Amino acid sequence: MDREYLTLEHIEKSFGGNRALKDVSFSVKKGTVHVLAGENGAGKSTVLKILCGNYHADSGEIYLEGNKIVAANPRQAQDLGIAMVYQELTLVSELTVEENLFLSIEPKNKFGLIDRKEVRKRIFALMDEYDIHINPKAIAGRLSVAEQQMAEILKVLLKNPQIIILDEPTSSLQSEEVVKLFNIVRNLVKKEKTIIFISHRMEEVFEIGDYVTVFKDGTFVGTRKISEIDVDELIKMMVGRPLTQIYPKKSEMVEDTVLLEVKNLKSEKLNDVSFQLHKGEILGIAGLQGHGQTELLDAISGVHKLTQGTIKVNGKEAKIKNAKQALDNGIALVPCDRKNEGLMLILPIQQNLALCSLDKRSKAGFINLKEEQKFAEETRKSLKIKLHNLNDPVSSLSGGNQQKIVLGKELGTDPKIMLFNDPTRGIDVEAKSDFYNIMRKQATEGIGVVLCSSDMMEIIGMSDRVLVMYEGRITGELQKDELSEELIMKKSMGIVEEVAESDK
Ligand code: ADP
Ligand code: MG
Repeated sequence: MDREYLTLEHIEKSFGGNRALKDVSFSVKKGTVHVLAGENGAGKSTVLKILCGNYHADSGEIYLEGNKIVAANPRQAQDLGIAMVYQELTLVSELTVEENLFLSIEPKNKFGLIDRKEVRKRIFALMDEYDIHINPKAIAGRLSVAEQQMAEILKVLLKNPQIIILDEPTSSLQSEEVVKLFNIVRNLVKKEKTIIFISHRMEEVFEIGDYVTVFKDGTFVGTRKISEIDVDELIKMMVGRPLTQIYPKKSEMVEDTVLLEVKNLKSEKLNDVSFQLHKGEILGIAGLQGHGQTELLDAISGVHKLTQGTIKVNGKEAKIKNAKQALDNGIALVPCDRKNEGLMLILPIQQNLALCSLDKRSKAGFINLKEEQKFAEETRKSLKIKLHNLNDPVSSLSGGNQQKIVLGKELGTDPKIMLFNDPTRGIDVEAKSDFYNIMRKQATEGIGVVLCSSDMMEIIGMSDRVLVMYEGRITGELQKDELSEELIMKKSMGIVEEVAESDK
């Protein structure tokens, strides 16, 4: 068999009874960016940890330039030219960047010491070569996540690897930091290095990848050339069905009962907003970022100050000046910034879930822990939250599962109206699909849902009706059968169609 640069054949790996990799084979070409994609838990990290000597495969072979290789540990992988930047950063936070880098280097001279001057020179040369700007004297723990990652990359580059593995390097980066990282990746490829890059963000796969290999449930689905595949096909490979089937069926008919009515809402960011939300309806709110959507949801949930306007719940005027009063009126908000607004990351999952509905499970000021656990367990099941233990901190969960905790916490209050602000941003397709099903199920059961989203496909796929916002106003209302990306886009930019028509 004509083996390529790097080939993995028939790799099997189990953890206890869990088969994490089932007969996985794929190849990587030299000097390319090879993306590994697939849902959380698909086995991407595991296969690469085997490649770099962190885990041992139960069976299977790895070939590098046609020769069978065995890396019993990361050190041996390194000697073979394979290095990995892990998903979890590994710097010693009390030490400086430079000290961290020294630590990772084997002593060279006969006294078992590192030639610091020499290493320093190499560090500067590398920073220069790859356009990496961090202060080597900075304490690692004080650096931003992006800077720590750069230090990790430097650490790996110091060992002059030929194959560099990056495990979800962008998951905690801002967009401008991603640009920088991609520049480094491109520079590495120019130097004939081979990059294996784990990501499940579509835009990224297409921007940086030359090839993509998809994993699903521990099996190899396929490898494609990026230039020969489109988003739809890739998603289909990842989740086993096309995007259009990710959205649940819409309501046949929405009831007339008005659950929520807002009238003439005005604030710093809102300019006379009025609308009604019906029982069982999913009302989408579209618009470009920063046109008042977040403020609108925040105003209805009592955290954005209105200067004017009324909010009616079930036909009665409601006084909603804070989050507690919103909850008392049966209004729950799933915010977009789960890390800052939605969760106490270091607290256990169970406690986070119970956070909003403490009164329900307390008696005479004491929390009924049994009840709390029961609720957490039920929520885990109904929302399909993937976790090891309810007592683990929320920070141990993936983004999608963290967001499910936010949702579960809000559902615990038995809301009548649910407001979602960009709920699926940055979470994987499988979790998205779960979210959509839950949202629709809630609506079917009679809850009114307002869904604000920056994802146009999501708005079109989920909404029974859509309002478009522009500069704090509602500039359009579209019914289910009128929803199109073009129309929403136009209204989002304040373009009134009549003008375009009469121009002719
Ligand atoms: P991915 O990187 O694609 O999200 P992983 O390779 O991390 O997926 O995980 C694949 C499967 O193996 C999951 O079911 C995960 O729970 C399991 N797994 C990974 N590492 C370990 C480990 N050290 N111990 C037990 N199970 C593990
Ligand atoms: Mg992983």
